[in-house]
Formats: sequence, C-alpha cells, structure tokens
Amino acid sequence: MSQAMTHDPRRVTVRAPAKINLHLEVGAPREDGFHPLATVYQAVGLYDDVTVSTWHEWSVQVRYEGLLADPDVSGASADPGRVVPLDAENVAVRAGRALVDHHGVDLAAAITIHKSIPVAGGMAGGSADAAATLVALDRLWELETSDEDLLAIAATLGSDVPFALLGGTAGGTGRGEVVEPLPDTGSWWWVVVGSDTGLSTPLVYRTFDELNDLADLDEPSLPPDLLMSLAEGSLIALPAQLQNDLQEAALSLRPDLVETFDDGYEAGALECLLSGSGPTVLLLCSDADHAREVTAAMHAAGHPRTVAVPAPVSGVHVVSYDGGP
Ligand code: ATP
Repeated sequence: MSQAMTHDPRRVTVRAPAKINLHLEVGAPREDGFHPLATVYQAVGLYDDVTVSTWHEWSVQVRYEGLLADPDVSGASADPGRVVPLDAENVAVRAGRALVDHHGVDLAAAITIHKSIPVAGGMAGGSADAAATLVALDRLWELETSDEDLLAIAATLGSDVPFALLGGTAGGTGRGEVVEPLPDTGSWWWVVVGSDTGLSTPLVYRTFDELNDLADLDEPSLPPDLLMSLAEGSLIALPAQLQNDLQEAALSLRPDLVETFDDGYEAGALECLLSGSGPTVLLLCSDADHAREVTAAMHAAGHPRTVAVPAPVSGVHVVSYDGGP
C-alpha cells in the first residue's frame, strides 16, 4: 500500500436495498448442510448506504439511521445477536477483501455503513452491505469487474448477496445464490414492522428441521401462479400466493409475533408475511395511501418500529462520487 494512496480524497457512496421473499420454499438439507431453496426475492425501499475511501488498512464503522437511529431502538446494545462486527468478520470487509483477491491488487479501504435495514431482521442487511461494498470499491478503484464476476464473487459471500446486486424481483435457486430476474409489471407497498430483538437465521433453519419430516419435503421449485401474477402486475391473487416455509419455525421461536400478525390484519393489511427468517413482519398494501393508514394503525397498536416502503426497487446503485475527476 503506497503512502500516496492513504491520502486519496475520493469517496464513493452506494445504496443497497433490503430484500423480502414473496415465496420461500425450503427443502431438506443437502450434504454440505445448506438447505436447497426456491425463492422469489423482491427488493424494497429500505436501504443501507455504504461509503468507501482508500485507506492503509481495512476498517469499518456503522452509523444507525432511520428506524435504527435511537440506540435503544437499534437493539445493538440490548441484543448481542444484533451486534454488527467492526472487524474482518463484517461482511462488507469480507466483500472488499474478496474483490482485491479477485483482481490480485494490494488495496484496502475505510468503509462506513449508514444502516437503516434492521440487523438480524430477515431482510439481508449484511448481504446488502456486501453487495454495496463490491460496487463501491469497483467504482472507486476503477476495476471494471464484469457483472458476471461480481455475481460470482457475491455468491461466495452469502446466499442473498447476488440478489442485492440485481434488485427488482428475481427468482433464487440453489441456496438462493443462483438468481434470475423475473418479469414484473406491478408495484405496491409493504409496511415493515421491526422487532425489538433479532432472530438468528441458523437457529430458525435448525428449528425448521426439527418441525418437519425432512424425508417428506419436496424439491423446492418456483411457483408458476405467483410468477404469472408478478408478470401481470396483479394484486388480486398475490395475497394468497405468498409463502414462507420458515414462518412456522420463526413463530415457534417468537410466539409474540402472532400478535403482530393479528395487529396487521386488524390494521387492514391485504396479507401478513414473515420476512425471510424473521422476526420482521411484512404487511402487504395496495398503494401509498393504504400503506400510510396501515402504518398509523400499527403505530397506534404499539409497534413504533413500523415504516412503509415501496416495492419493487432497483438493486445497488452509486449515489455519490466525491473528489473524482
Ligand atoms: P441472514 O443474512 O443471515 O439471513 P439477516 O438478514 O436476518 O441474516 P443481517 O442483518 O444480514 O440479518 O445480519 C446477520 C448477522 O450477520 C448479524 O447478526 C451480524 O452478526 C452479522 N454481520 C456481519 N456483517 C454485518 C453487516 N455489515 N450488517 C449486519 N450484520 C452483519
């Protein structure tokens, strides 16, 4: 690392969306321990912003924004499962290292994450940070990594990282890392109901294994009816087509969420769905006005960490490039 590089003033900021799963079908664990999935991802308008600049060593800091701005609300102090590591374990740092390894260059960066996506919330916030870091560093260092290579590096970092690059609506197979954009003509809103504490994804999968007769599970596949509703942009059949196989396991670990579902229906949601492995709960709404009403009702019902977001939205994108030519 040259001295000159440590004073490079250029900074790139990239925004990455949270994901939800409109369909999450889980099969019996494979020999490598991963569960095969067939999932329909959708990117929603809740974002982490990642800013990078060249530095003499890898460093990462996290600032909590929006719903997470109040440290009590971030849960970072209260729930050890929600602590975002500030060392080489942070998936953003792992992403940066994977990118420099891929190119065989000796560079490092300071990474600042402005975090609005709930930590350990089942919305793939860490994966969003990893995808954002790949794109930010690629731009900062003008590495011109091909889309194909970015997707391949992303898949080594986590099952949900390739989708964060894509955004929109996409099918995911394998363990979720094999992604394919899906035709999608509609748009709607989700009311996102955050939780006081996080849920560990591995624990939810272990509970899924305990609750299910694994020998009876079908090989997961993408559901044609849901894909048709998405292609037609139709909200009519969509509520009944939402499916999350992890919901039962997550609710058995967090029975309090049943009440959140009840409150969601009471608030007028078209449907309630657990986000990924939870504990975030999603309330489907037809449009912005409907989402505003449902959000107000959820606040009144004692769910302060509730926000309304549009969907689908685009994947990672550069929002600023300071100090460049
Ligand atoms: P998963 O991606 O495992 O499904 P999730 O979407 O529920 O999980 P994340 O917010 O991605 O939740 O975080 C899962 C865990 O990953 C955290 O508890 C934290 O220890 C670790 N982690 C590492 N880097 C990050 C990061 N940049 N942001 C959030 N969590 C991170």
